[in-house]
Amino acid sequence: MAKPSEDQIPSSRISGFYNLSVAERLQRVSAFAGLSADHAEQLARSGNLETDLADHMIENFVTTLAIPVGIATNFRIDGRDLLVPMATEESSVVAAASNAARQCYGAGGFTTSLSASEMIGQIQILDVPDPDAATAEIGRRRAEIAELCEACDPLLVSLGGGFRDIEVRRIDAASGPMVVVHIIVDTRDAMGANAVNSIAERLAPLLAEWTGGRPLLRILSNLADRRLARAEAVWPLAAIGRSEVRDGLIAAFEFADADPYRAATHNKGIMNGISAVVLATGNDTRAVEAGAHAFAARSGRYRSLSTWSRTPNGDLKGTIELPMAVGLVGGLTRLHPTVRALLAVLAPDNAGQLARVIAAVGLAQNFAAMKALATEGIQRGHMSLHAHNIAIGAGASGTEIEALAARMIAARSISAATAEAMLGELRARA
Ligand code: NAD
Repeated sequence: MAKPSEDQIPSSRISGFYNLSVAERLQRVSAFAGLSADHAEQLARSGNLETDLADHMIENFVTTLAIPVGIATNFRIDGRDLLVPMATEESSVVAAASNAARQCYGAGGFTTSLSASEMIGQIQILDVPDPDAATAEIGRRRAEIAELCEACDPLLVSLGGGFRDIEVRRIDAASGPMVVVHIIVDTRDAMGANAVNSIAERLAPLLAEWTGGRPLLRILSNLADRRLARAEAVWPLAAIGRSEVRDGLIAAFEFADADPYRAATHNKGIMNGISAVVLATGNDTRAVEAGAHAFAARSGRYRSLSTWSRTPNGDLKGTIELPMAVGLVGGLTRLHPTVRALLAVLAPDNAGQLARVIAAVGLAQNFAAMKALATEGIQRGHMSLHAHNIAIGAGASGTEIEALAARMIAARSISAATAEAMLGELRARA
């Protein structure tokens, strides 16, 4: 076969792609990938996010990806009943959270708190001739630094936020010592990344001048350990069922807390709930996830984000604590019309309450996953929705989906191959 000539090989070097209209970009992508008309048509649909708006959100925009949003029911948090939107593609997550919340609803639901809404901006300064003298000099200029910070974001200050503190750290890196200044800012109802980054960038040249060093990075830390959301709840023994199940949950927690292999999956289960609410409310899932995992490893060993114990009455108590940098202004929160509508469903009073609700959902999710694991195993709960998804994937539609899922569950064989074979049989009989 003749080799394709250079100009026939599709190239990813597309200059000015961002200058094209969305339709033109899609055409270029379709031609590059040789997309079928069906695929190209699918990409041209933007669902409930207008193309024009989405095109302003990210670069080189071509389409949107819709993720199902479910509503978790039964949540009573700090004495208030709430319906919690969760955006997730994973089956069983919303049902599990609702189920766990139901089992502690009668005992009062969840009690939550927040340490503060402070974020940390880091300014890295290299080649500081005398780190101790630099630390002292920065300390002497604290009031000046506070004033500079506040001048950066007067709106934030008028809302009760702004400068809170400064810390100077000396880090011994591979290439030698570096001075790292932490600027601590209360960002109120904002997640705060842009706010803190702007302040850090403004301060860096002055800090360099005062310390005789060279500024390099100026960026927020996602280890937001001055913005810790906490939630706790008691699940009565009567709601759990048997004392063996309660003890099984405690043993499951102890396993996770002692073993990073287990802790990774244990915390992933917590994040199933947390990331779903973070996403549904237009917040930054990566920021929250990075903070959660760094916090889980703060002792030097990666551990459980939750703790579980038996109460003196014999009930089960769960607690969770993790950084929760989420906002109600900034980012997508006010931009995305679906996010705005979902926030109207949840109706949090402020970003602090949103953070606390998210922690409660994480705890509920953790309870549900551990209970399933310590009793029937995770697969049974997953099976029904999973079977539906496999049935749809095999081409079932309408009433075929339910029929095919039920057959696969009965046969204890849920796979694409089984679905295809059984769908053939179903259709042959119809
Ligand atoms: P932002 O800058 O859009 O909004 C914050 C600003 O809004 C404040 O500075 C303040 O002036 C104003 N404001 C108005 N009403 C307020 C209120 N009630 N409370 C507080 N501030 C109020 O957004 P942001 O929260 O600074 O940044 C969030 C975005 O930054 C997210 O989209 C995130 O994805 C992105 N981001 C994250 C990282 C990271 O996590 N490392 C880094 C860069 C950017």
